[in-house]
Amino acid sequence: MSLQIEPITFGVGDRFAHQAGAQLAAFIKAREAGMEVVPVWNKSNREHLIVGSEPDSLRAAADAAVAELGWSGPYYVDADHINLETVDRFIAASDFYTLDVADSIGRPAAGDDVASFVDRHPELVGEIAVAGIDEPFTTTRAQVEDITGKYLLAVAEAAEIYRHIEAAKGAGQFVTEVSMDETDSPQTPPELLVILAALADHKVPLQTIAPKFTGRFNKGVDYVGDLAQFESEFNDDLAVIAHAVAAYGLPANLKLSVHSGSDKFSIYAPIRKALARFGAGLHIKTAGTTWLEEVIGLAEADGEGLVLAKEIYTQALEHMDELCAPYATVIDIDAGGLPGAETVRGWGSAEFVAALRHDPDNPGYNPHLRQLLHVGFKIAAKMGSRYTDALVEFRPVISKNVTENLFERHMKPLFSSGNG
Ligand SMILES: [Zn+2]
Repeated sequence: MSLQIEPITFGVGDRFAHQAGAQLAAFIKAREAGMEVVPVWNKSNREHLIVGSEPDSLRAAADAAVAELGWSGPYYVDADHINLETVDRFIAASDFYTLDVADSIGRPAAGDDVASFVDRHPELVGEIAVAGIDEPFTTTRAQVEDITGKYLLAVAEAAEIYRHIEAAKGAGQFVTEVSMDETDSPQTPPELLVILAALADHKVPLQTIAPKFTGRFNKGVDYVGDLAQFESEFNDDLAVIAHAVAAYGLPANLKLSVHSGSDKFSIYAPIRKALARFGAGLHIKTAGTTWLEEVIGLAEADGEGLVLAKEIYTQALEHMDELCAPYATVIDIDAGGLPGAETVRGWGSAEFVAALRHDPDNPGYNPHLRQLLHVGFKIAAKMGSRYTDALVEFRPVISKNVTENLFERHMKPLFSSGNG
């Protein structure tokens, strides 16, 4: 039997491996409310390196939470953004692999690979009518060659990583995602179509694909961009996927994966409408939002918890350049908008929580502080057991924040047909 991912899956991150139970509680609430949302615990190699953790620890935390809460549904552990160099230590622990080939976009393919791909795919040249997109695209052979030239090597690399995992785990024993989101420009619908045709040629049974979408997906804060354009591109992507599944025999459950960078609340309503229009599924990753709920919980606990939260912020301020460097393309922090260490030292619990919690209607909310803390988990990692002991000590208030955040601010707006 081969693993077939469910229609609606939600990626959660648990950087310090203490919140899997509180996260799972949100999925239980969703199920009780009639939403079938399947949990996927994801952690990238980059996160493991920064925190100093091993992939096996994420699997252990997920398994323990599932046993403790009696979750009887499916769940997955995602080796997020891996490549051929980093995949090996994820082989035992993961059953979901996000093959990141963005770095190979634009690198030239070998010999006459491009010409022979286009020869094999005359259907990609000319007028292409895609159900669900009003105007057919028109492409020339030269355009299709350009697109193919840009993506063919990346696709070949995805196939190589896929075969490597398949050799270790066996076909059908894991879910495959291909990600191209960490790149400069969004893929157009004709580009997505070429990518999917090429992945099908390589017999990569991908079940989710993460393109780059238009607009800014900054870490931990809301979407910045043209919502109408996002909605139209998202619809086009769904249409292209349905078209490619039928045309190239890709897995019938192939769906979009949105690497949200956490908390893209304003695109949730357009996404929900688009999914309903196509009867499509979705995978959405929200890795960092839980770590911020830990800090919110500490601050809300007041006393020693608040002291620790302030210290994390103060140290993050001191190490801002180093913390921000690996995430430069996905944060927009205005240093002038960051409160100084002295100011924050004077804050009470309510002020700290208001600044950090993602409630855009709260006048105290500060997106600069939130982004800095989002990338600041290295500070907590360096604190070692002092930080993780606090997670245990203040567990009740932290758990409440973790569960509520996922359920109220993410799952309900995305997956329930209620308001909005
Ligand atoms: Zn990503």
